[in-house]
Amino acid sequence: MPLIRGGNLAEDQWVHRADDEPLPDGEPVIVSLDRWKRDRETLLTRNAPLGLRLKSDQAPSQVAGDLDRFGVVALEFPTFKDGRAFSYAKLLRDRHHYRGEVRAFGHILRDQYLYLDRLGVDTIEVKDARQADEWKTAMGEYSVFYQPAADARRPAMNLRRRVAEALKPSRPDFEDLAPVGDVLPPKDAPPKATPARIAASDAKVRSFSHKYGHLSAPKLMAAMIETEFTGNIALVSSFGTEAAVLLHMVSEIAPDLPVVFLDTQKLFGETLRYRDQLVGQIGLTNVQTVRPDPERLRALDPKGMLFSSRANLCCQIRKVEPLDRALAPYDAWITGRKRYQGRRRAVLPVIEAAEGRVKINPLAGWSKDLLDEYFTEHGLPRHPLEADGYLSIGCMPCTDRVRPGEDVRAGRWRGTDKDECGIHETPAAQSLTSSGL
Ligand code: SF4
Repeated sequence: MPLIRGGNLAEDQWVHRADDEPLPDGEPVIVSLDRWKRDRETLLTRNAPLGLRLKSDQAPSQVAGDLDRFGVVALEFPTFKDGRAFSYAKLLRDRHHYRGEVRAFGHILRDQYLYLDRLGVDTIEVKDARQADEWKTAMGEYSVFYQPAADARRPAMNLRRRVAEALKPSRPDFEDLAPVGDVLPPKDAPPKATPARIAASDAKVRSFSHKYGHLSAPKLMAAMIETEFTGNIALVSSFGTEAAVLLHMVSEIAPDLPVVFLDTQKLFGETLRYRDQLVGQIGLTNVQTVRPDPERLRALDPKGMLFSSRANLCCQIRKVEPLDRALAPYDAWITGRKRYQGRRRAVLPVIEAAEGRVKINPLAGWSKDLLDEYFTEHGLPRHPLEADGYLSIGCMPCTDRVRPGEDVRAGRWRGTDKDECGIHETPAAQSLTSSGL
């Protein structure tokens, strides 16, 4: 069935499957709530994106704790008179903080298009591809609204208060950004770096900055991978919007270099598919997907909603701890951070010390234009969400679109002071020794 996204016909990667239909390997499928309840454990073991179909008498609250497992939630509009799916769309966005694709299907009238868009519905399944033109026209018919919705447009009554509201601080989406010191570390946490190891990594940073500081990104990486840390260095990649550049460089130097990918189990389905596409295209052979410890999740995030109450703790158990374990065998790691991403990254060194390891940031000085040129020159695919306004992509509940003029990471933990997940927190004592390149 044709799919409309933002007024244009769009490719539909998802396939609706009935309850008795087999699910082909690797196919992104949308299944009913009944099937999800019946086959939940089996469905979770599939190595393919999963979507959920809700009838108009099935509220999203029935699967609140599982929503982040679905790349798309498809809401049925059975008749013109049944408006329950409108409420569900709003609840998905406002109450459940669902950031995946919300789609509508069934009996949808042209006059409802704009309202669906305002509620946060991304896509609509239509019977006739020619309805794309109607969508576009409908989207531009009104500019002022009486009712608030999930979009950023102010209702008419609120326009008068615009100036006063603009001066208020934004309300945090996260209730508590408290540090995580009140939670004990996991029993199998790797030991902290010894003073001797920290001193050794500091010395290496000083020496390497002098010796390699003038090299281009590929040459710097080659020196680290082939000479200084042979068999003892890994790349950590999010497979986000710009990750392909560094990954491609690595594929040309050492396609078997360990690439650590943190699957927090809160990621967009698009990111997982993009990882697979990119890895296949550029020929990386040693991508290691690392996940949170199920014991920690059971103990600290049993409902999967910790991100909405203690984001720092959520990042700790879903990102920081798994990465600590994954990096334990290595003396050095490579990251894709850039200075142009702003905030704390604006002063990012190319070579730094962190927790007794050497950390290489080969693209620290690269601009957005340079990255774009690299993509074009090497025919690299873009992350599928980038065109939709996601300029920095992390976990689904904590990533928002970036509006024109905002900084590139403005959509991460929007409305809060949080701007990093914790894996790049460098103890003060060590940051002083960073090369500053
Ligand atoms: S980014 Fe959000 S969902 Fe992901 S680990 Fe951090 S708080 Fe949790």
